[in-house]
Amino acid sequence: MKVQSVRTHLLDYALDTPFESASMQFSRRQHCLVEVICDDGTVGWGECLGPAKLNAAVVAAYAQSLVGQDPLQTERLWLTLYNQLRDQGQRGLTVTALSGIDIALWDIKGKHFGVPISTLLGGRVRESVSAYATGSFRRDGVDRVSDVAEEVAGYRHEGFHAVKVKIGFDVEEDLAVIAAVREAIGPDMRLMIDANHGYDVLEAVEVGKRAAQWGVDWFEEPVLPEQLSAYRAVKSGQPIPVAGGETWHGRYAMQAPLETRAVDIVQPDICGVGGFTEIRRVADMADLHGVRLIPHVWGTAVCIAASLQFMAALLPNPPRREPRPPILEFDRTENPFRQAVVKTPIEHHQGIVQIPDGPGLGIEIDRQALETYAMKEM
Ligand SMILES: [Mg+2]
Repeated sequence: MKVQSVRTHLLDYALDTPFESASMQFSRRQHCLVEVICDDGTVGWGECLGPAKLNAAVVAAYAQSLVGQDPLQTERLWLTLYNQLRDQGQRGLTVTALSGIDIALWDIKGKHFGVPISTLLGGRVRESVSAYATGSFRRDGVDRVSDVAEEVAGYRHEGFHAVKVKIGFDVEEDLAVIAAVREAIGPDMRLMIDANHGYDVLEAVEVGKRAAQWGVDWFEEPVLPEQLSAYRAVKSGQPIPVAGGETWHGRYAMQAPLETRAVDIVQPDICGVGGFTEIRRVADMADLHGVRLIPHVWGTAVCIAASLQFMAALLPNPPRREPRPPILEFDRTENPFRQAVVKTPIEHHQGIVQIPDGPGLGIEIDRQALETYAMKEM
């Protein structure tokens, strides 16, 4: 079996209601899927985290090195592609683009052997995961506190057991939002907060100290991702466990945060950190330092399926009954193609998501949806 061609599919949708995190405004949803086609007809799918067009450009640059290669040689191909841009691109888009390709190659590998990727990763230790609802971004023209409170009450009603709330805008307003969210979801639902690196250390420490009373599981990306000493200052300066890692791409970017314990919880995104090949290494690195790993997930059903295959094989350590099984990030913001790209949507039931058990990623792509949401040249 040889790789015959590599294609990207750019998906695009103009949002009815734009929203923003502390670091990014969303007026469109744009994602880049990767399709790797083999000479025997086997097709693998992957997805890249981040700017769709730029990821597609880097995938195209890698494609010539893939054509004619054995797709089962995932380790060698990962290194070949990484080496191609290593001197100018040890982090960022070079690795997010490589992630999409690596996921597609693992999808091919699973289909070739007729097993889900989780089997190839060492075996499935779970068939489902609990999911948490990600939403509550800031929207223009509404009262943010009541808007977010109403939104999270909806997640509770849907059966979710956990929710993550976007902060990082303004200390006092953010604290009012967190208080209103706890009130809306009641005492039993898990609550996480995500500042999308919108604070400096003093703001983050103040928010963490004052928000702890509302029972917060983790405080995500409190400060800029490049500032590891700032992370450590936030970690030691307030009581909520600190999480981060969605912008640390590749094992080398993960090394310092893990070795210096900049975070309590590390959050690699399989579509950004380097695919299955690299996230396994990051999981081992996190284990070496006793840092909990909970994946970041922000993409279509392709990305969700990849994350689920990884989580299916993620073993607890120490190996007793799991104190805290991994939890799936489940984006609830507007994105009509998120599930439309697959023939069987990956949905939750009462906050629980079943892990697909078909070959590879366990999904079937809906090519009609890829056409419907294809990016028009802009
Ligand atoms: Mg985040």
